[in-house]
Amino acid sequence: MEKLKYERPFIKKLNAGLMNKFGTRTEYTPHTHIDGVAVKELVAKYGSPVFVISEKQIRRNYQNAVRAFKTRYPKVQFAWSYKTNYINAVCNVFHQEGSWAEVVSGFEYQKAKGNGVPGNKIIFNGPDKTVADLELAINDGAMIHIDHFDELYELQELLTRLNKKARVAIRVNMDTGIYPMWDRFGFNYESGQAWNAITKIMASDNLELTGLHCHIGTFMLSTAAYGVAAAKLSDLAMNIKSRFGKIIQYLDLGGGFPSANTLKGSYLPGADIVPSIDEFAEVITSTLLNYGYKQDELPLLILETGRALIDDAGYLLGSVLATKRLSDGRRATIMDFGVNILFTAFWYDHKISPAQEFTHHTEDMVLYGPLCMNIDVVRESISLPLLNKGDQVVVHKVGAYNMTQWMQFIQMRPNVVMIDVNGNPHLIRNKETIDTLHDMEVLPDYLKKFEL
Ligand SMILES: *Cc1c(COP(=O)(O)O)cnc(C)c1O
Repeated sequence: MEKLKYERPFIKKLNAGLMNKFGTRTEYTPHTHIDGVAVKELVAKYGSPVFVISEKQIRRNYQNAVRAFKTRYPKVQFAWSYKTNYINAVCNVFHQEGSWAEVVSGFEYQKAKGNGVPGNKIIFNGPDKTVADLELAINDGAMIHIDHFDELYELQELLTRLNKKARVAIRVNMDTGIYPMWDRFGFNYESGQAWNAITKIMASDNLELTGLHCHIGTFMLSTAAYGVAAAKLSDLAMNIKSRFGKIIQYLDLGGGFPSANTLKGSYLPGADIVPSIDEFAEVITSTLLNYGYKQDELPLLILETGRALIDDAGYLLGSVLATKRLSDGRRATIMDFGVNILFTAFWYDHKISPAQEFTHHTEDMVLYGPLCMNIDVVRESISLPLLNKGDQVVVHKVGAYNMTQWMQFIQMRPNVVMIDVNGNPHLIRNKETIDTLHDMEVLPDYLKKFEL
């Protein structure tokens, strides 16, 4: 062990009175390795901050989710939600495992195609599909999930012009007992809007209705809501069968399962309260199996799970830039990562571990990021051992949405590394440099010269 650093003695206020009724938690263990690779080595080689993804954990999560559904229902297919993390190496781990692709924009569609996913295994969701996107999707035989009537009419017009047919589904929104309702996407069930869209599609010569889709929310803590969703989609499917004699081939229940992160303001840590994938699978599959489908007409069950499959496979390693005392006496620790690359710090209290041995002192502190912007706060208050300049920390469960929602503001985006199943690190996305900026900018000639 290294020689211990001198720490200035300080007086610590003891909280007498009510303790947390669940007792105290001591989670202060240094996190020195990820999948067998030393954090210090990763930082030395790839810089700080750096995102690290565990391929082993992705595969473990995926296989566990598939097991949860396939042991309960005969026909199950997952489709990787690109917007959750669309780094190609990540997507391809899912594709190697058998996952199709779920995309919500033209460029995500191009990425999925570029990764080698056949068109008929790409689910194209979202309210923003351009005519060019739709034409490409039609030609590829992709699964087009219609979001609104304007898209339905546009598609109709396009197909007539191209003299082609397309297989489509509609996205349905509904009251599942969770509020606010996500009724801005898709067609509403209760108002009859979804049925109206269905009858229009059934009446069309060039649209074939093959599926029904919903995505009722994200980080859903209620399993019952999925039972309601599966029942309402099944109701539509049964009505389509009895009215038109048409068998709906698949029901797509979307994503939304929570990861084990802790939401801000939650009394208990996420890992203690979020339902498991098995609990969601149980509600969804028993609703479908008990609904009354004929055995050979059971629809394929598609899931577009994002967050729950990737969050705990991602880590962010960062370093302490400085420590200081705020005017009110609180300790502040300034990190080299902030909300610029850890967007989810806005809604999660991420678990953060020191990456080296430390003394037994802990203190409540504010964790700031490096930006010159007051809202750049990683944590308002966290009890951690006293970190010093140059120390490293590991932020846990950051695999979902950070590597797609990160922003290039004041600091550029860092390297992303994947540790393969044999414990070898691979760079999977290069950090941005000044050239990244120069490549995109165009400086008009008349602005090239000045004198000061
Ligand atoms: C974002 C999204 C998903 C994935 O959601 P998670 O909450 O990450 O599971 C799935 N389907 C659609 C349509 C989405 O927009």
